[in-house]
Amino acid sequence: MSLLQIEGISKAFGGVQAVQNVSFRLQAGELLALIGPNGAGKSTTFNMVGGQLAPDRGRVLLAGRDITGLPPRAIWRLGVGRTFQIAQTFASLTVAENVQMALLSADRRIFSWWPRAAGHRRADALALLEQVDMQAQAGRPCSELAYGDVKRVELAMALAHDPRLLLMDEPTAGMAPGERVALMQLARRIAQERRMGMLFTEHSMDVVFGQADRVAVLVRGQLLAQGTPQKIRDDARVQQAYLGTGLVRERTA
Ligand code: ADP
Ligand code: MG
Repeated sequence: MSLLQIEGISKAFGGVQAVQNVSFRLQAGELLALIGPNGAGKSTTFNMVGGQLAPDRGRVLLAGRDITGLPPRAIWRLGVGRTFQIAQTFASLTVAENVQMALLSADRRIFSWWPRAAGHRRADALALLEQVDMQAQAGRPCSELAYGDVKRVELAMALAHDPRLLLMDEPTAGMAPGERVALMQLARRIAQERRMGMLFTEHSMDVVFGQADRVAVLVRGQLLAQGTPQKIRDDARVQQAYLGTGLVRERTA
């Protein structure tokens, strides 16, 4: 059984068919890159998996269980974590405190108890920070971190409730090329260690073709192709859709 199975989901906004009859599967431990030009429907697809949007048609199954249209919090409790394009951390709190907040939330404690809960699962928070190579900066306020380091903290926070599936919508947006590859190599290692599935969107073709196990290509709301990075790179329709972009340049270089 697939960890995630998407069956013919569609979503329209007024007259715009943002996502149209899209189906794909993702296995535990697998990294699937969902790629496509701006406006292709990637974020809308993510939002239908995470519960921020309900599909007009189709089904979303998590390990065989129908989660279509459930609210985000319910889907999160079933083991679907996500990171956002804009890093969401509390700038005034330290790195470790941010992860402790995420652990509190995973334990369903109330945020307003924070002053009394500053010692909450400190060791677990530090262990999560170790996984993202941020333990040395545990005591620094997030406001002082480099952007790439904030993204690592955000990844540790997303891992706090031990998700089975992690959704990452443009996790490397705003990062330098070398940092992008490093963050996704780290994410890949963590996904494999935990047998966690990862669905991510990404514009850097170095990251997509270097890190993804499989690639799904969306164009104008429809799934154009899916397969191994090699198969996608060699697909004439995909090259046509990406004409003039890095995908084609990289191939002909
Ligand atoms: P991507 O993430 O691939 O760039 P999106 O899923 O954000 O694409 O958008 C797909 C299409 O749906 C675009 O035409 C976009 O303008 C439209 N769209 C997305 N969200 C909304 C919304 N909340 N209301 C109206 N139109 C939207
Ligand atoms: Mg988007």
